[in-house]
Amino acid sequence: MTAQPIASIRPIPAERFAERLAAAARVAVAHGFDALLVGVGPDLRYLTGYGAMPLERLTMLVVLPGPPRLVAPLLEAPAARAAVGSSVPIVTWGETDDPHELVAAFAGASPSAAAPSLRVAVSDRLWTSHLLRLQEALPGATFARASSVLGELRMVKDEWEVERLRAAARAADRVVAAIAAGPLVGRTEADVAREVRERLVEEGHQVAEFAIVGSGPNSASPHHEASERVIRAGEPIVLDIGGLLGDYGSDITRMLWVTGGDPDKGPDDEYLRLFGLVRAAQAEATSAVRPGMPAERVDATARGIIAAGGYGDRFIHRLGHGIGLEVHEDPYLVDGNDEPLREGAAFSVEPGIYLEGRYGARIEDIVVCGPHGPIVLNEAPRDLYVVTG
Ligand code: ZN
Ligand code: ZN
Ligand code: ZN
Repeated sequence: MTAQPIASIRPIPAERFAERLAAAARVAVAHGFDALLVGVGPDLRYLTGYGAMPLERLTMLVVLPGPPRLVAPLLEAPAARAAVGSSVPIVTWGETDDPHELVAAFAGASPSAAAPSLRVAVSDRLWTSHLLRLQEALPGATFARASSVLGELRMVKDEWEVERLRAAARAADRVVAAIAAGPLVGRTEADVAREVRERLVEEGHQVAEFAIVGSGPNSASPHHEASERVIRAGEPIVLDIGGLLGDYGSDITRMLWVTGGDPDKGPDDEYLRLFGLVRAAQAEATSAVRPGMPAERVDATARGIIAAGGYGDRFIHRLGHGIGLEVHEDPYLVDGNDEPLREGAAFSVEPGIYLEGRYGARIEDIVVCGPHGPIVLNEAPRDLYVVTG
C-alpha cells in the first residue's frame, strides 16, 4: 500500500532558482541593503534547493553583493555541489580558516575596518553563534532580518511550489481517511499519533512534523500533545496532522466522533451545534479568499459566524498561517494584519471552538489564493467523521 506520490513531482528547474536569486537581490537593494546573507534553513532551500544540515561549521549563501556564491565547509562541498549544481559557485573553507571573516570580506568590509554604513540582511533562522561572529567581523554594520526581503517572495508560490503543496495535502488527506476508518476505541492517543506519523511517511512525507490527537476533553486544547489517554466511545477527537513532502508542508485538521458502534454514543446537540458553526465559518472564510482581500478580513469572516452563534470568546486563535517550506510562515490570517492577500499565497483556514474541560472542534484546509478566488488543496470531506470501532 506504499504510495509514491513524490515520484510524480517535477524537479524545480535551475532557471527558476536563478530567477529567485535575482529577485532576492533586487528586493534587497530596493530595501536599501548592501548585503544579503542566507544561512542554512528554508531561505537557502528556497533560493538554491540546498537542504543543508544546520551545523556549527558555517554554510552561507552570499546573495548580495553579487554575484551570488555559496560559502561552505570543504567537507560539505560535494553535498553542496550536488544540490546547487553549477548555478552558484561554491567557495570552500578549511578547518583552520575563519568562515565568518570570509563572509564578512564578501559582504564588503575588510575584517579589521569598521563599516559604519553597511546594512546587512541575515536569514531569520541563522544560529546566534554565527550571527554574533558575523557581527564581530563586521563592526559598525547594522543587521536586519532577511524576512523583510525574502518573506514577500516566499509568500507567493509558483507552480512548482503549489504542485508540492497539493501533493502534500493529498497525502495528508489519505492519512485522515485511514485513521477515520478506525479502530480507535481502547487505543491511546499516542498510539494513534504513532500510526499517523508512520502513514504520513508511507504516503511520501520526508518528515511527519506533528500529529495532534486530542480525544474527549483534550479536543478543547488546540495544540494538545498526544498523551497516554485511552480513547473511549462517545467522544470527539481532533486530528491535526502534517509534515513535509517534497520540502513543502501539509497541515490538515478533521473532527472525528467515536461511537464504538453504540447508537447512544453519538454527538450531543451542543456538539453538533458548535461543529456546525465551525464548518460554516470555515466554508465562508474560505470562499472570501481572493487577491487584494486584507488577511484580517478573512479571519473576521469566520469570527463573525462563530460570534453570532454565541462562541466568539471560544475561538481563541488566529484563523490561519501561511505554509510553504515551513509549516508556519507568512501570511498570517489574524486581526491586525491588513496586508492584502497576494495571488499565489498559500495558507491554512482553521477556525475552532474550544469549551475547556468538555470538548472542542476545528476544521483546517490549506488554501491557495487563486486569481479569482480560493483553490482548496485538501479534498478530505469536512463532515464530522463517525468512527464506529
Ligand atoms: Zn497550529
Ligand atoms: Zn494544523
Ligand atoms: Zn495549521
